Amino acid sequence: MNKTHLRNLSLLELRDVVLAEGEPEFRFRQLATWIYARLESTYDAMTDLPKELRQRLAQRFDVAASAPVSIQQSAVDGTRKFLFEFADGARVESVLMRYDRRNTVCLSTQVGCPLDCVFCETAKGRFQRNLTAGEILDQICLLKREAGPPSEKINVVFMGMGEPLLNLPSVIAAIRVMNDPLGLNLGGKRITVSTSSFPDRIRELADSEADCSLALSLNAPNDALRRQLMPKASHFPIDELLDAARYFVRDGRRRVTLEYVLIKGRNMSPVDADELAALAHAQPFKLNLIPYNPGRHSPYECPNEDDIDRFVTRLLPAAPAVTVRRSRGVDIDAACGQLWNEYLMQKKKPAKGAA
Ligand code: SF4
Repeated sequence: MNKTHLRNLSLLELRDVVLAEGEPEFRFRQLATWIYARLESTYDAMTDLPKELRQRLAQRFDVAASAPVSIQQSAVDGTRKFLFEFADGARVESVLMRYDRRNTVCLSTQVGCPLDCVFCETAKGRFQRNLTAGEILDQICLLKREAGPPSEKINVVFMGMGEPLLNLPSVIAAIRVMNDPLGLNLGGKRITVSTSSFPDRIRELADSEADCSLALSLNAPNDALRRQLMPKASHFPIDELLDAARYFVRDGRRRVTLEYVLIKGRNMSPVDADELAALAHAQPFKLNLIPYNPGRHSPYECPNEDDIDRFVTRLLPAAPAVTVRRSRGVDIDAACGQLWNEYLMQKKKPAKGAA
């Protein structure tokens, strides 16, 4: 019998499962605590639940549906990159980063990505499918457990493989569990969904019950250059995206950041800086610059410190708050999709001795 993944259930559905077993309400709270506060992935550890209840649940439900099959750790900054495998053999990457006294996890939402941003490693592989909410939650539960004491707060960014807004129902369902005090108990300022496009879906996310922040991945100061760098994501003009982003923050409760990947020789000219400054100046959003982290076979280059300084100096003071986010894990396959791509290449290679 195909089992249901417990983390695919909303907390209300989880409660209904426990009550339908003839158990009192507090058993639901115990079960939720094991899954999301203690981050357990097996029934064996849940010793305060009656053994018969655990056995009945185990017949119908898996606690976790995925496990890491490969882990890389950076010798430079301790960043760890995980390759997760799901029941159907599909794999995605997730990253755990340590900044001073906080951890950040970067989650994937799709196996591959149907968009084809020219600088992206994920885009080089074939899009396979959307992840379920449970598969998204498995990533954060395992990484949070790896990060240290379960009580330690963590920041979550949906910036791994895939375009989150193309898998919106699962992303919203996962965020609602993250927000819930009986789930991962994370406020919206700790969760950032990064998108490259789709103004209608930005509005849908804004109107949903998912409490999160938004990062709008611009990467070009005008539509013409954006069409070259992000051909499918640029179907909607920048103006429409910014309109939707302003809708997202309309009541002041939510935050939007504009993200701009700095690619040497592609989007960092003085004219690009002037256009970006003018564009950002008119918005109530912070601008986050991210030096490109090239994959092993990428034709594009990371800018050096002088390139970055020149670009930032040109942006200021016309632009609003500008930050530069340094790449993490540069000595491992840390470009998004790179570890997954290496795995796909290995799969394609004929086994030794094969004809
Ligand atoms: S940058 Fe993001 S949206 Fe673009 S192809 Fe890569 S994963 Fe997809």
